[in-house]
Amino acid sequence: MTATIINGKELAHEIRGSMKEEVSQLIMNEGLTPHLTVIIVGDNPASKSYVRGKQKASDETGISSDVIELPSSVTEEKLLQMIQELNNDHEVHGILVQLPLPDHIREENVIVTIDPDKDVDGFHPINIGRMMTGEDTFFPCTPYGIITMLKSKDIQIEGKHAVVIGRSNIVGKPVGQLLLNENATVTYCHSRTENLKEHTTRADIVIAAIGKPNVITTDYVKQGAAVIDVGINRLEDGSLTGDVDFDTVKQKASYLTPVPKGVGPMTITMLLKNTIKAAKGLSKQ
Ligand code: NAD
Repeated sequence: MTATIINGKELAHEIRGSMKEEVSQLIMNEGLTPHLTVIIVGDNPASKSYVRGKQKASDETGISSDVIELPSSVTEEKLLQMIQELNNDHEVHGILVQLPLPDHIREENVIVTIDPDKDVDGFHPINIGRMMTGEDTFFPCTPYGIITMLKSKDIQIEGKHAVVIGRSNIVGKPVGQLLLNENATVTYCHSRTENLKEHTTRADIVIAAIGKPNVITTDYVKQGAAVIDVGINRLEDGSLTGDVDFDTVKQKASYLTPVPKGVGPMTITMLLKNTIKAAKGLSKQ
């Protein structure tokens, strides 16, 4: 068997095409231009590159955006005050604070200060709670992108056994919850899991969100499983690779996502989707 590759770049392009149409209708019919404000603290080159990608994608979709750049010396108090101002600004529909933050700023304080109705990253505990109780809300972008990829290929989730490897707040935990909301039977594995293979080889769907290059080899995967590779690992030669050994797992899986051009482009696309949703005020309905 050779897996069908789920190309996230192509899917993202397709979805962004229809979002562009939706945004132009919003502008034309309601005079409403969705607006995203991104705050970046410090000079982390990876963060800067992510923010540039988000801005470029917003522009291409017709969503307006601005970036507030703050020095790494900014106080937590000042940052929270800026977020409050954005919460009160009716022209701003989505607020995103690029993580990670410098050590003197408590991430959890920042996340809870963002108005849940502008929380396009879907990290606010209120939105996490809404997701857990099965309500419609802003879903965290990477997990939302993963579910969208599975659905794009009509991969059956209901009743299937999904094994999530990783339990971070931004990927592992929420993707497991979204799979559960879709009626999968979900197993969470992590760095303390004993006999990882015993779990993953029973999975119909494997979500690898570990952050270690090529750890998921064919002996971790059941014949015909759908495998989603979330990992982004930079190798010494500068190239990017996922958590899954693509070339070998491709021979055994039914579906597989590549790195790059896999989950990454879907993450930004879901951010745009959440921004449009915030502009339309859907989370309040
Ligand atoms: P994290 O470091 O917060 O979490 C990694 C998880 O992997 C932890 O829960 C840990 O318990 C688990 N783990 C580590 N080693 C393990 C092992 N040997 N066996 C089983 N579990 C193990 O990372 P994260 O933020 O969840 O991100 C995971 C990966 O996904 C990273 O490579 C990150 O760059 C990538 N990522 C990609 C996107 C995207 O858009 N494609 C978005 C977010 C994160």
